[in-house]
Amino acid sequence: MDNSSFILGVDLDGVVGDFYEMLRKTAAEWLDKPLESLTTDVGYGLDEWNLAPYGGYERLHRFAVTQRNLFRDMKPMKDAPAVLRKLSAHGIRIRIITHRLFIKYSHKSSITQTVEWLDNWDIPYWDLCFMKDKGAVGAHVYIDDSPANVLGLRALGCRTIVFTNSTNRDLPGPRADNWNEVEQLVLDAMEEWRTGSLSLFGAT
Ligand SMILES: [Mg+2]
Repeated sequence: MDNSSFILGVDLDGVVGDFYEMLRKTAAEWLDKPLESLTTDVGYGLDEWNLAPYGGYERLHRFAVTQRNLFRDMKPMKDAPAVLRKLSAHGIRIRIITHRLFIKYSHKSSITQTVEWLDNWDIPYWDLCFMKDKGAVGAHVYIDDSPANVLGLRALGCRTIVFTNSTNRDLPGPRADNWNEVEQLVLDAMEEWRTGSLSLFGAT
C-alpha cells in the first residue's frame, strides 16, 4: 500500500453512478412495461422486477451495457463528482474498484464506457481496478453499496462505509445517505488515520 497518502477505495455502481435509476429505465424498455410498474425498492439481484422469465438479470445487464451504453450514460449520484474533487484536493488518493467485468464478452464496452464516463464527469482518480475481490486492493477506507462487498470487506478488517440504498438497509454503519455525508466520514477517517485514533470504525 502507498503509505504516503490516504487512499479511498470507491465502488462505482450505486455509489458514484446512479446504476439503479438507469437500469430501471432500461428494464422497462426491455420488458416493455411501464416504468412505474418496476418498484424502486429493490434488493440486490433485482428479483422484484421478475426478470427470470425473460432471461434473467445478467441478460438485462448485458443489454444495458452493450445496447444502451449503461456505463457511459448513467447519471452520477447527486454531488458525487464534486465531492470526489474536493476529497482529491485534500490530498486523498481516489482508487476506483469496480466489478463491472462480471459479465463475459463485453469487456471492451464496459472499460471504454467507464473511462469515458469518469472523464465526462471530471471524476478524479489515480487507480482504476476492475476486480471482484476488493479486499485484495489496499485502501484505508472503502465505500460500497453491495451487502456482500461491505460484509466481505469488513470481515477482512477493511474499514467500509455503506452507501445507502434499498439493497443494504439492514447493514450496520458507518453509513452515508448522501455524498455530503461521505465527505465528512472520509475526512473523519483520514483524521483518525493521521492521529491513530479509532473512534469511527473501532479497532479492526
Ligand atoms: Mg455497487
